[in-house]
Amino acid sequence: MTRVLLPATLPELWEALAACPEAPLLAGGTDLLVRLRARRQRPEALVGLERLAELRTIRRQGRGLRIGALATHAMIARHPLVLRHAPVLARAVSEVGGPAIRNMGTLGGNLCTASPAGDSLPALAVLEARVELLSAGGTRLLPLSEFLLGPGRAALAPGEIVGAVRVPLSADFQVQHFEKAGRRAALAIAVVSLAVLARLEKGMVAEARLAVGSAAPTVLRCPEAEEFLRGRRLTLSALERAARAVRAAVRPIDDARASAGYRRQVAGNLLLRLADL
Ligand SMILES: Cc1cc2nc3c(=O)[nH]c(=O)nc-3n(C[C@H](O)[C@H](O)[C@H](O)COP(=O)(O)OP(=O)(O)OC[C@H]3O[C@@H](n4cnc5c(N)ncnc54)[C@H](O)[C@@H]3O)c2cc1C
Repeated sequence: MTRVLLPATLPELWEALAACPEAPLLAGGTDLLVRLRARRQRPEALVGLERLAELRTIRRQGRGLRIGALATHAMIARHPLVLRHAPVLARAVSEVGGPAIRNMGTLGGNLCTASPAGDSLPALAVLEARVELLSAGGTRLLPLSEFLLGPGRAALAPGEIVGAVRVPLSADFQVQHFEKAGRRAALAIAVVSLAVLARLEKGMVAEARLAVGSAAPTVLRCPEAEEFLRGRRLTLSALERAARAVRAAVRPIDDARASAGYRRQVAGNLLLRLADL
């Protein structure tokens, strides 16, 4: 029988983690429970985060938003602050699984699973989000690129949890786009995904940020393509040149869902959609 500890405050959480250091953390359970079942594992204890209401809040903090790790995809997708200040993230999390998965799955769980296909990750990468890590010893902040170490690997120290994600406001980026290509229209894990922010001045790109998911060991920014677009209009010919730079930057693998060559081609193609916006 697996015991589930349900601390209701952070001090209770630190006590539970000290008492059961091997116990996996449980947020929405949509990744963890599938993983435990597949490996036929039954840990002695799980530490459930669900009663930690302070980790579920979304609020303005300084010049950004603080999105609690326990905020579900459904909550983030419809939250007025996210829709106004970081619409690319609202769009990305509204593509996670189906409604049941979006109601259970959390942003913290998506980050800590650290799948190259995590839908929130390209959006968080272009937003230049930082991850707030909490432990009994205090708080530290890590840029997303330092938090995600590789497939299934995140820079979480023992006894540490993700408390929140800090997202700078992005309303001055008029172009905010997220798209994923999957094998089916619904419930599909991304074969490749792309998030884009672009700030335009007089119709020209003043700043562009591009991040590709599912096409490298972790989410990948494409500085060459970003640089190429600067000072240009988002015309099809400019996007085609930038798409070539995206295809050159990605490092996809062949797997059961798609070949590396297909992923490379589609990673560039997704960018061409911006010509229609
Ligand atoms: C049918 C199905 C479809 C799916 N489709 C998609 C999809 O389209 N796109 C997508 O991105 N994902 C998809 N997923 C994966 C999953 O739903 C998401 O990754 C989800 O965000 C995980 O969140 P969770 O709260 O359920 O995490 P959990 O399963 O509770 O936890 C996942 C991992 O993170 C750790 N963890 C969770 N929260 C914290 C925290 N705050 N601090 C430290 N560690 C923590 C857990 O210990 C565990 O190791 C799908 C899953 C299923 C089963």
